[in-house]
Amino acid sequence: MKLSSYSRWIVGACAVLALVCVTDSAWACAGCGCSAKKAKAAVKKAKADVALCTKCGEIKGKETCCKADAKKCGCGLQKGSPGCCKIKKGAKSAALCAKCGQIKGTDACCKPGAKKCGGCGLQKGAPGCCKI
Ligand SMILES: [Zn+2]
Ligand SMILES: [Zn+2]
Ligand SMILES: [Zn+2]
Ligand SMILES: [Zn+2]
Repeated sequence: MKLSSYSRWIVGACAVLALVCVTDSAWACAGCGCSAKKAKAAVKKAKADVALCTKCGEIKGKETCCKADAKKCGCGLQKGSPGCCKIKKGAKSAALCAKCGQIKGTDACCKPGAKKCGGCGLQKGAPGCCKI
């Protein structure tokens, strides 16, 4: 009988100790903020690419997008728009790369050694330079 009550006491003590350990480590984590830091890193994302309107060549949603009285270029898109003579009119989709300002997926996109614009940090002369 004596032995069994002693072992029961041991089990009880262990349970309490384990509980203390769990709460302890949770507190330590909250104190150092490691879980908060991890969450922040997951939220931080690269800048999204800018969608171009394939009907007019302008940045989608811009006030100049599909403007009725805009000057048209020979390519069918609005003259001087980021997509003018660079994207195909009526293409499924087109976008400016947020990292370099070039049409996404072209050879010039994110080309190493390309000249950077001092104003916007994108590739100098890229369709999105100083526009996105
Ligand atoms: Zn448009
Ligand atoms: Zn054009
Ligand atoms: Zn790029
Ligand atoms: Zn620029």
